[in-house]
Formats: sequence, C-alpha cells, structure tokens
Amino acid sequence: KERNGDEPEFLQAVEEVAETVIPYIVKHDIYYGKNILLRMVEPERVITFRVCWVDDDGEIQVNRGYRIQMNSAIGPYKGGLRFHPTVNMSILKFLAFEQVFKNSLTTLPMGGGKGGSDFDPKGKSDNEIMRFCHAFMGELFRHIGPNTDVPAGDIGVGSREIGFLFGMYKKLRNEFTGVLTGKGMSWGGSLIRPEATGYGNVYFAQKMLETKNDSFDGKAVVISGSGNVAQYAAEKVLQLGGKVLTLSDSSGYIYDEEGIDEEKLAFVMNLKNVKRGRISEYLESYPNATFVKGKTPWGVKCDIALPCATQNELNEDDANTLVKNGCICVSEGANMPSTKEAITVFHKAKILFAPGKASNAGGVATSGLEMTQNSLRFKWTREEVDTKLKDIMSDIHKSCLEFGEDEDGYVDYVRGANIAGFVKVADAMLAQGVV
Ligand code: NDP
Repeated sequence: KERNGDEPEFLQAVEEVAETVIPYIVKHDIYYGKNILLRMVEPERVITFRVCWVDDDGEIQVNRGYRIQMNSAIGPYKGGLRFHPTVNMSILKFLAFEQVFKNSLTTLPMGGGKGGSDFDPKGKSDNEIMRFCHAFMGELFRHIGPNTDVPAGDIGVGSREIGFLFGMYKKLRNEFTGVLTGKGMSWGGSLIRPEATGYGNVYFAQKMLETKNDSFDGKAVVISGSGNVAQYAAEKVLQLGGKVLTLSDSSGYIYDEEGIDEEKLAFVMNLKNVKRGRISEYLESYPNATFVKGKTPWGVKCDIALPCATQNELNEDDANTLVKNGCICVSEGANMPSTKEAITVFHKAKILFAPGKASNAGGVATSGLEMTQNSLRFKWTREEVDTKLKDIMSDIHKSCLEFGEDEDGYVDYVRGANIAGFVKVADAMLAQGVV
C-alpha cells in the first residue's frame, strides 16, 4: 500500500488475490517466508513513452503509451493493449497482475503483461487510428518480440488496430513473426480467436451450471457491453438455447423483452464493428425495445448475468438486486467487473460466481494457440480450435474445483482460480531463484 497507494484498481486486484492466497502460503512450507507474493506484485519492468501523431486537421496530438511486463516466470509476457481515455498506471497494473494468474490457469506457457494508451479511438477516422497505431508501435517495437512479449487486443483495440500495429512492427523489424495475436485470418491469425473470450465465458458458465445439473437452455440472460466479448457471449448463449435480454455501452443499455435473437445480434455486430455506432441506435430498427440512458442492466430480472464491459461495473447494490431477482449464476467476461463488495454478496447468497481471470481466460488461451500455430507455420480448423478452447475452459473449471471447494460443497471460484494460478507461477519462480 505504501508503494502503490495511489493505484486503487491495482490494490483492489492484489487484495482479492492476497486474501485467498496468503492463507494457502501460510499452510505450505515451500512458499512460506520466501516473499513470493511481494515479488509477484512488483512488475518486472514498466515502460511509459510519448506517442505523437498528427490528426486529420493537421494538429499534433500527444498521448501516453504504456507496457507493463509483469511476470515472465512461465513464458513470454502476454496480454492485451487497451486504448481508452481512462487508461492509467493503476488500471494497467491491475490488468497485468490479473493476467499473470489467468495465463497460468490456461496451462499454456505464457507470462503476464498489459499495455495501452489514454488515446480515445471514439470518433476518430480510420486514417487517424492508423497514424496513432503506427506512432505507438514506433516505440513499443523495441520492447516486444515473439519470444519476449506478445501483445493482443483489449478495449478499443480490435482487428483494425492489430493490423496497423502489426504493419509497423513488420516494417521496423523487417521480419514476419507472431509478435501480436488477434491477427487477420490471411496473415497469421487463428480461427475462433475473435469469438474465444465470449465463447469461453459461456463454456465456463456451462461447466458451473452442470455442477447443479442445469444448463443455458431456456434461461434469461443479461449481458453488459456490446463489444467483442459481449457479442460472442451473446452468440454462444443463443446457440445453447438461452434468451439474451440486454446489451449496453458506456451510454446506457438496451432491454429487448422479446429477446435479442441471431438477426438482431447481426444488426448489433454491424452497428458496433462496421458503423461504429451507439447501442441506442438499436431502437431505430427494433422499436419495441427500450433504451435506459446512463445505467447498467443489472436491474433486469434474469437467471444468468454476464458482465462483459469493464472493471467495477457491478457494485454491491447491483449484486443484491440480481440475487433478489433470482439470478443463479454470474460469470465475468470483463476483467474485474464486480466490486469486492458485490462478490461478497454472491458468495453469501451461495450462487455460482466466476471471476474473470478464470471465466474470460479463453481469449488469451486461444491467443496461445495462435502463437503455437505461428511457430509451427500451420493452421488448425475452426473445429480443432473450438475443441481445444472447450477443453481448456473445462480444465480451468477443474482447477477451480480442486482449490475452491468448501467443506459444504459450495465452490468459491475466486479462491480456486487464485490459488491454482498462483501455484504454477510460484513454483517456476522458486525454481529459477531470486532474479
Ligand atoms: P470492446 O472495446 O470491444 O468493447 C468494450 C465494451 O464495453 C463496449 O461496449 C464499451 O462501450 C463498453 N465500455 C467500455 N468502457 C466502459 C465504461 N467505462 N462504462 C461502460 N461501458 C464501457 O472491448 P472487449 O469486448 O474486448 O473487452 C471488454 C472487457 O473484456 C474488458 O474488461 C476487457 O479487459 C475484457 N477482456 C477482453 C478480452 C478480449 O479477448 N477482447 C479477453 C479477456 C478480457 P463504448 O463503446 O461506449 O465504450
């Protein structure tokens, strides 16, 4: 706290891990007294840099770029880039810290990192986005590489941005390597990567429901966000027979009592990915729906909630409302969308709750599969990647059960994910000595 007092999101993420991992360390001599958690909370390297670019009016703009290289004990740093005006050191350190545990849970050899910029892509032309991405990579390229640090997308960084970033990396290094994941299908990308985080979240929720002999079939599902994760979570819910009632963006949420079916979801994908419009425009085509300005969708009665927008978007009051309305399962697609107090409400009510580091790990896992395919110079089919994704989500679920099951049979997936993620990284750090 003394060192990171002005970084609230980072402290929040560390506290959640410490509360579950410290009691485990105390009971296990191999970890006790080695300051292992203290070492894990200190990033191996933090890079900040100036990003100058010229906008369409000829004005020179200045943004700040970051890369947090958090932990490389089990593999090259791996984690997304976020472009959003709220990006700062606290947010990126929390994301990088979470990423270390998440990547460990995937069972693939990936360390943890995160990066990005306070650049706001909203309202920018394609040319402005390209100039910004090129300027950003003009510095980042010297700190990354396929065996060192492999960034990917996150909020505000999708396939368009990854393309521009990759183009500049290739030019500067004069080599074609898998230095970024989330690439286009014709230049090294993996099938299922765009779908992976949303699909993986639903696969994980499906595993949780199976422990209660239940499924998505016929369930009312509330989803927040309308970006990459939310879109593909919705698609998979529909495939499994669920009814999607809401989607949102930073301006508010839409509620469609009749359900957002495949056709309506295709409309949203075009609206968000091609037209880059606002979710409220849904009503122009589907006037029976309602738009609730400036609010999150947690007041809508549902069986299952999938928060897929951003951190701290679901607070204690929201959690109480969800439980009161009969929600039986919350599975996080976003990173740390539920506050600490909200998680306590879910645990007290003994409903199924999955923290993002377990339930949204499908994205980075499939990025790991993209790295493998790049190294092999080979491409797996859609079915092959989807099967591997399902297996990985199932394995993560098993690890959570191993470390998270209470005596009364309730599974604390937060404890399970934290300890399972910790053990693998801690073992590697101990084996490598004090470096
Ligand atoms: P996108 O940029 O594609 O979509 C983000 C969505 O969240 C948009 O609908 C956006 O609305 C909304 N949003 C962003 N910030 C806020 C805010 N402050 N308040 C309310 N709504 C907000 O990002 P992704 O879908 O990729 O990421 C969503 C979450 O999932 C993030 O937490 C990310 O870290 C996490 N994640 C993503 C992975 C991936 O593979 N993409 C992997 C693992 C986790 P608007 O358009 O108005 O900004």
